[in-house]
Order: sequence, then structure tokens, then C-alpha cells
Amino acid sequence: MVEPELPPLREVIARHGLCASKSLGQNFLFDEHLLDRIATVPGELSGKRVLEVGPGPGGLTRALLRAGAQVTAIEMDRRCLPALAELGEAFPGRLTVIQGDALAMDHDAFMEGEPYAVLSNLPYNVGTALFTRWMGGEEWPPNWTSLTLMFQQEVAQRIVAQPGGSAYGRLAVLAQWRGTARLAMKVHRSAFTPPPKVMSAIVHVTPATMPNGVSAAKLEAITAAAFGQRRKMLRQSLKSVPGALDALDALGIDPTRRAETLDVEEFVAVARALSS
Ligand code: SAM
Repeated sequence: MVEPELPPLREVIARHGLCASKSLGQNFLFDEHLLDRIATVPGELSGKRVLEVGPGPGGLTRALLRAGAQVTAIEMDRRCLPALAELGEAFPGRLTVIQGDALAMDHDAFMEGEPYAVLSNLPYNVGTALFTRWMGGEEWPPNWTSLTLMFQQEVAQRIVAQPGGSAYGRLAVLAQWRGTARLAMKVHRSAFTPPPKVMSAIVHVTPATMPNGVSAAKLEAITAAAFGQRRKMLRQSLKSVPGALDALDALGIDPTRRAETLDVEEFVAVARALSS
């Protein structure tokens, strides 16, 4: 397929008056080589369906389209719609744009029951809220086949963290229970316009096949209580969770340990005991 000639992203931004909005967490990527590299993280996308949240002026979107994906993009900022419409014209029938708040939407409904890869570069608060939603809930497996998400580096490190350190917490337990998470790429702050204060990193997650009999809500209750008082011993921090101390006893987990010493399997075992 002959690739359409696209104007440079800086020209698109200037022509459509898309000055970055701080309240919408807008930090744009203009380096097309970097964007093409990000589009390779989930693997082969040709002919695959992709959900992109927060396309902005369409930098990552054009990389996904170049990779051959069928893209559905959800963007909150109406100002970006004309630029995205232009991109859609350059790749006829391959880009659907939905305007609105991705936090308030049922993403599966837009993807017509088909499996899809998720790619997104979102502001911190929206990104983590969507991540816990994609990874959480009682329905499993999900319709998404992978998540490729840009986060502040510190958040990315919390998702892939191993027990024993201060980065290990609720996000790590959820991500590593429900999936296989890896840090795919670090992105320097200078790659963004305007540059954010901190470094970023891309996390790639594929969903795990779930063992039966574990309630996501129970696991969430345990990790919230345990890491909510992470300096305390489990016998203190889990007091508020009915049945948790008995479960520790039955599983032979020493109640004088602290949350960050329990690995994901141990948290899951406690949740399973409370779920039955
Ligand atoms: N993908 C573009 C890029 O990499 O250059 C833009 C990234 S910018 C960090 C985040 C984008 O997410 C912005 O375009 C912003 O308007 C959009 N956004 C922020 N909150 C959103 C939400 N709740 N739902 C959908 N889009 C949102």
C-alpha cells in the first residue's frame, strides 16, 4: 500500500490552533520515528483493531494507521477533531473518532465485540484510572488483547515492581495477577511538547488466563488495607478486613510480616480464601 503524504505534526498543530491545554494534560509527541517505534510495541498491527485513547492531534494515531491498524480513537478535546478528520481522510475507512471522556464510556461497545489492542498516552490521573478499570472487575478474560500505555516513569515502575521495595503496591499486585506486565520503553521528557516535569515510560501488558475462584473485589480490599498501612504488620493492617487474619493463619503466612514482603501469589491466596 502506498502511504499517504502527511504534513508535519507541528504544521497540523499550528494550522488548527492546538496550543497544549494543561488542564487536559496535553503533552504532544512530534517525533515520527519515536511514534512508529511505540506502534511496534504491541506487535504486528496490520488488519488488527486498535483502541487509542487521547489521540490529540493524531501523532500516535498516524503511526498506528501506517502500521496497518483499524483505529477507533476517543478524544475529549473538540479542538482536535478537525485535525483527526483530516487524518481519517488520508486513510479512508480506517479511523473512527469518538469525542468524549473515555472514563465515562463502555469501550467494548465501540469495538463491536471484536478483540482489540489498546494504545494510549494519557494524563497521569486518567491513565491510572483507566488502567485499574481495564485490569479490574469480575469479568475475565477481557476483550482487549494488550495494553500499551505511556505513564510517568514512576507509575510505570510501580506497575512492574517486585516485592520488597517501596514501588511495590496495589498497582503491581493487580497488574501481575491479571497479566504479564513489562516496561517496554523509556521516553525522555524532552520528546514531548511542552516537556513534562518528569520522565515517562511505556508499559505493555498482556492478559493472563485467570485461575478461578478469586474475586477482584476481595483482592482489592486486601491490597487497599495492607498497603494503606504499609509500615504496619499484617495483623494490624488487615484487622479491618473480615476473615483476613484467619486466612493468613490457614495459609501459614506470618502475620508479623509487612505488605511489601508478600508476593502476588500470596495476596491471591488470601483473596481466594476470602472469596470461597
Ligand atoms: N496521543 C497524543 C500524543 O501522544 O501526542 C496526545 C497525548 S496528550 C498527553 C493526552 C491526550 O488525551 C490529549 O489530547 C487530551 O485531550 C486527551 N484526554 C485527556 N483526558 C481525556 C479523557 N478523559 N478522555 C479522552 N481523552 C482525554
